[in-house]
Amino acid sequence: MVQERKYQFSWDLLGDIEKGRPNLGRMVPVEVYRLMQFTFRDVMEQHVGTEQTDQMFFEAGKLAGREFCRKQLGTITDFHEFIQQVQRSLREMGIGIFRVEKADLVRREFELTVAEDLDCSGLPELDYEICKYDEGFIAGVLESYGGKSYTVKESDCWCTGERVCRFMAKEEG
Ligand SMILES: [Zn+2]
Repeated sequence: MVQERKYQFSWDLLGDIEKGRPNLGRMVPVEVYRLMQFTFRDVMEQHVGTEQTDQMFFEAGKLAGREFCRKQLGTITDFHEFIQQVQRSLREMGIGIFRVEKADLVRREFELTVAEDLDCSGLPELDYEICKYDEGFIAGVLESYGGKSYTVKESDCWCTGERVCRFMAKEEG
């Protein structure tokens, strides 16, 4: 027998926000989002270590990317239209300004950037990239288009002194 799960994701779990927050509304400051993300990171790292924490952030981001596309975009077969819709949705939701810098549609390799990234833009400079959740999110988004898995690695980040996050994505063989 399959054990029932308590937290399997569904959009229904997010509830009816309009009804639930008639006075406070849909918006919260970016600090609140980052506070949750960084406290999760802290506690998870203490429980399972840095590598596992990063992996979990990646996987959660991937789930989010997939669900985001499923809910926001539906089925789009044209790649350019798909990217345009992703761009528009990410901007509307305040997640970031997404751009495709290079696309090799034959080899399925992409160079993507996110400016004003919700997760990291404005963070103090560190000596490592931090956007594991975004790497996963992008992997989930790309997978939603072609159905194949992608390896996504951040190469530039606000945290490494750049002003956009840059991601290298490649379809897994
Ligand atoms: Zn970043």
